[in-house]
Amino acid sequence: MNALAATNRNFRHAARILGLDSKLEKSLLIPFREIKVECTIPKDDGTLVSYVGFRVQHDNSRGPMKGGIRYHPEVDPDEVNALAQLMTWKTAVADIPYGGAKGGIGCTPKDLSKSEWERLTRVFTQKIHDLIGVNMDVPAPDMGTNAQTMAWILDEYSKFHGYSPAIVTGKPIDLGGSLGREAATGRGVVYATEALLAEHGKSIKDLTFVIQGFGNVGSWAARLIHERGGKVVAVSDITGAVKNPNGIDIQSLLNHKEATGSLNNFDGGDAMDPNELLIEDCDVLIPCALGGVLNRENAGKVRAKFIIEAANHPTDPEADEILSKKGVIVLPDIYANSGGVTVSYFEWVQNIQGFMWDEEKVNKELHRYMTRAFGNIKNMCQTHNCSLRMGAFTLGVNRVARATVLRGWEA
Ligand code: NAD
Repeated sequence: MNALAATNRNFRHAARILGLDSKLEKSLLIPFREIKVECTIPKDDGTLVSYVGFRVQHDNSRGPMKGGIRYHPEVDPDEVNALAQLMTWKTAVADIPYGGAKGGIGCTPKDLSKSEWERLTRVFTQKIHDLIGVNMDVPAPDMGTNAQTMAWILDEYSKFHGYSPAIVTGKPIDLGGSLGREAATGRGVVYATEALLAEHGKSIKDLTFVIQGFGNVGSWAARLIHERGGKVVAVSDITGAVKNPNGIDIQSLLNHKEATGSLNNFDGGDAMDPNELLIEDCDVLIPCALGGVLNRENAGKVRAKFIIEAANHPTDPEADEILSKKGVIVLPDIYANSGGVTVSYFEWVQNIQGFMWDEEKVNKELHRYMTRAFGNIKNMCQTHNCSLRMGAFTLGVNRVARATVLRGWEA
């Protein structure tokens, strides 16, 4: 099941639980606006090349729309649509005053030189500059984009609208980025994990963890779990996988990856088959890489007791059912990885205030938001006798539905 079908299915299930009016349900599902633009740039050799860029703005009833921009060869309108919708529910679950959006350009970033990458970003910004805005739609980095990409968008947008640091989040600190933003998603994952485990009378220091993906989210989650005394027994990335039943020294693995560019030949553990990683024995499994990795084929073999969805959409609905029957507790993506967008919100607030917070304040506020959202999700689970995923979806959908109704339907 693709990401859009799965997201729509979860939304519809939540709408049924909430007893939403069918017209409201339909209105919440259809995106506010879908943008498709053609971006032609001269390559470094002078030839022209064209790319297609998308921005789907799903809902703005609770505030400006918010979501990443990804550069990836497989960016397609359906996936962007699903991810935009997920952002709407995610920002509502976090209770930050935003709606949801997502965008992307179908391109292969590694085939672009830095100047081609910059030209493409500037052309894309020129095409959408009047449809984004500090109070309308605020992009952020996603797969294939980074703080530098946001700096170019900020610069290009400011040519049309004047100095506007709050137009993007995930910027370099020198241009108004927030301290703590780089670690925020991984840190939020760890705060969310602590909240869930506490509810089950457990704590990170007593448990074993397996982490798929060792990029921004996975490496920060691993580092913070290790710091708290948790045993990370296996880690994988695109280059391979490593395991050590006594616990991997995460700082050594980070140093090894920095030095060699891969997880292979790490002397603090044994190489393992990356395909076995998700079914490795552990207490907590944290997918931090791709969508759809837990599916009908492998869900029955998962040995973890808890799954924390740090990646977007790592569990397809069939796997969800299998895991639920096995008694595996799944903490859903729209909550578990919301630390990134929450600190993006803090960045936007700081830009609007013209006042920079210290990192301690950022992390303290993030902890407060993540803990509060977990309590709100649990209340929905109790009210509707449902899973954590449906607790999160009903919480998010209900908040957006209430805002939509309060704003009224009159034309
Ligand atoms: P990233 O590009 O920094 O890291 C991705 C990691 O996944 C890399 O280590 C890569 O090697 C690994 N990977 C890729 N294919 C793999 C495979 N087949 N098997 C094992 N590992 C593989 O990306 P990121 O920012 O860490 O994002 C990871 C996930 O978290 C994505 O699903 C993303 O949408 C989601 N997410 C990220 C943020 C954020 O703020 N960065 C926020 C919310 C959600």
